[in-house]
Amino acid sequence: MAFGFSQTQDQVEVVKMVRKFVENEIVPVRAYYDEQEEFPWPVIKKMADIGILCMAGPEAINGYPWDHLTRSLAMEELARGCGGIATTPMANLLACEPVEIAGNQEQQEWWFTGLCQKGELGAYCVTEPNAGSDVGAISTNARKDGKHYILNGTKCFISNGSVASKYVVLATLDKSKGHAGFP
Ligand SMILES: Cc1cc2nc3c(=O)[nH]c(=O)nc-3n(C[C@H](O)[C@H](O)[C@H](O)COP(=O)(O)OP(=O)(O)OC[C@H]3O[C@@H](n4cnc5c(N)ncnc54)[C@H](O)[C@@H]3O)c2cc1C
Repeated sequence: MAFGFSQTQDQVEVVKMVRKFVENEIVPVRAYYDEQEEFPWPVIKKMADIGILCMAGPEAINGYPWDHLTRSLAMEELARGCGGIATTPMANLLACEPVEIAGNQEQQEWWFTGLCQKGELGAYCVTEPNAGSDVGAISTNARKDGKHYILNGTKCFISNGSVASKYVVLATLDKSKGHAGFP
């Protein structure tokens, strides 16, 4: 069986566009943000303007429903410019996946309107001080309270954690059930 590794014309264009962005907007400032340990909001805003801050979501709400290979190619270019800055759109993408897969229409509209139209950031919150590779060991608890859930627990190492507006939080309804305790 023959495998093809060539890129489509659209993928070639995406790579070109992201490469140009990296050269013009990231390479000149990456050392500054690294040394100052400052969050690069101006760069993030420019990413939102050209649509690479949130490479997901339905087209109807300004999303970029790119396939995984196109997303990977774009991420590869961004990370070539700066691994740190590239982490923000990558974490956005990570946080979008559960919403794309399991979010209802109302949740998707709320989420993607913020991320794709307003340039907000998302975060994907799984890791805890005592649960990393072993996701089934998480302790953050979700308790139903009327129409809402009350979350109680501690997360760590969350990319975009201090700058995001929207969060996907993995919590258990019953820790004693391990993986089966997740809603
Ligand atoms: C840059 C960065 C960004 C991150 N962003 C996020 C984020 O946005 N959201 C989030 O939820 N988390 C995030 N994390 C956390 C990351 O997901 C965890 O660090 C990862 O899951 C590993 O968990 P841990 O650090 O507790 O290590 P541990 O799970 O304690 O693992 C420590 C070591 O033991 C090994 N090990 C573990 N279990 C086994 C096993 N069963 N058999 C053999 N070896 C094993 C591992 O390979 C590793 O070498 C981020 C981490 C980094 C470094």
